[in-house]
Amino acid sequence: MATILIVEDEQAIALLIKYNLEKAGYNTIYVSQGNKVLPVVEKENPSLILLDWMLPEISGLELCKIIRNNPERKNTPIIMLTAKGQEEDKIAGLSAGADDYVTKPFSVPELLARIQTNLRRAGNMSENDKKEYVFKDIVLKTKEKKVFRGENYIQLAPTEFRILKMLISSPSQVFSREDLLKEVWGNSVYVEARTVDVHIRRLRKALNEFGPDYIRTIRSTGYSIDDHDIS
Ligand code: CA
Repeated sequence: MATILIVEDEQAIALLIKYNLEKAGYNTIYVSQGNKVLPVVEKENPSLILLDWMLPEISGLELCKIIRNNPERKNTPIIMLTAKGQEEDKIAGLSAGADDYVTKPFSVPELLARIQTNLRRAGNMSENDKKEYVFKDIVLKTKEKKVFRGENYIQLAPTEFRILKMLISSPSQVFSREDLLKEVWGNSVYVEARTVDVHIRRLRKALNEFGPDYIRTIRSTGYSIDDHDIS
């Protein structure tokens, strides 16, 4: 669940936003003072920041620049909230590193739509950042959603792709069936743990056509990818 940090000194507006975001299923953190923002950002690592432009101690614009200059917050979407509607202010906000801009008064559906879009974009960005994973001769390209073994293109179904991605993201780490279920199917769907075994079998079949079996079964525990001895 995404956590949204709301930075807004006008309490009525802040509470309205908070109420509607929580109703839409987001966690929220509310900060009214500009000088409290940076410690909260560091501690809570919000998924997205709604940042009011006009704050008493430090402007939203200054805060935006500071947050953006921290490499760890490079991908945290920032939406500026402001009463200013002028084009030059918008440009200033965006060049300070804001991702988007919402002018007050705004409608709640509009704000929710902007939040959703920015979260989705950020999710895709961090995925692209990792671009590819390599283990031995196996290469998984996240952006293209393709897997190669040496020169050979391996066609995988989406589920097998996600399982391989999880295994290859951390070689030698043993993932339980529950870990894999949670990652691949999420919490919302009920899937039997044995289903994982079926997909692992398919994944092995596809990969092992072109090389040795690097997927290791750890009895009654789970799976990992590593260079174990094949007996
Ligand atoms: Ca304000």
